[in-house]
Amino acid sequence: MKINILNAGYCTSPEHIAIHGGRWRTIHFPAMFALLQHPRFGPMIFDTGYSYRFFDETKKFPKRFYRWMTPVTLKEEDLVINQLAEFGLRPQDISHVFISHFHADHIASLPDLNWSRFVYMPHAFSGLRNLPPSEDMKHAFLRGLIPTDFDSRSHEVDMSKPVLLSEEYAPFKQGYDLLGDESIIGVELPGHAHGQMGLFVRDESGRLFFFVADAAWLKQSIVENRPPHKIANLLFPDPEAYRETLGNLHSHYLTHPDTIIVPSHCDETIKALRNPKVK
Ligand SMILES: [Zn+2]
Repeated sequence: MKINILNAGYCTSPEHIAIHGGRWRTIHFPAMFALLQHPRFGPMIFDTGYSYRFFDETKKFPKRFYRWMTPVTLKEEDLVINQLAEFGLRPQDISHVFISHFHADHIASLPDLNWSRFVYMPHAFSGLRNLPPSEDMKHAFLRGLIPTDFDSRSHEVDMSKPVLLSEEYAPFKQGYDLLGDESIIGVELPGHAHGQMGLFVRDESGRLFFFVADAAWLKQSIVENRPPHKIANLLFPDPEAYRETLGNLHSHYLTHPDTIIVPSHCDETIKALRNPKVK
């Protein structure tokens, strides 16, 4: 599998919120997405980052508050579809979109991907869809980003069929074989959002990538087992599970130093991994 780490825009946020003991300065939070080019199933992506729809959806109060909290920078060339074009890919070439969770900065380009199947853990969306719209903000959810034919293109992960994982994924013991060929393994990373899904994917040279979405905002949090500022717990549906997940990531980091762990918003990690483009 060819793997390219990219990002569609970024927002800014205070470092001392992103990590306990962080400095009083503003840092960039890239909105990562990954292009996964499977030898048999073709090109797929993990998450989508921002799109201009984020601005459309946050024009009015109270959703405008979302924009103020996380000011977004997005250029034309950053749009997912424009970046795919640089690889010679059209939206209709993308067979699957793996959705880590439904926060707006991970799904804003779903409406541009009119031909893809959407793969996600069922409980990541089931709670949100039935919320009264007045509660969307509390969950960083912008329902206008969900395509109208979302249900008919959804392929929810079958949670009744977990696979036992080998030691190379420890301490994660259970995952989901998302394509049936063991090439992409989804794991639950609870705490930050309901049903958050991380992916283990191996690239063509055998390197194991672990996309951990927002289970940690910064790689440093995983390296040092250091959570965000306590105030961030207000954003998390299950702060205790968040802490446990972070502990598991830290443990994997210690015992599997060769795994390339990719938190979606870690500027240092994303900058280091943005591959030279494959034309
Ligand atoms: Zn999130």
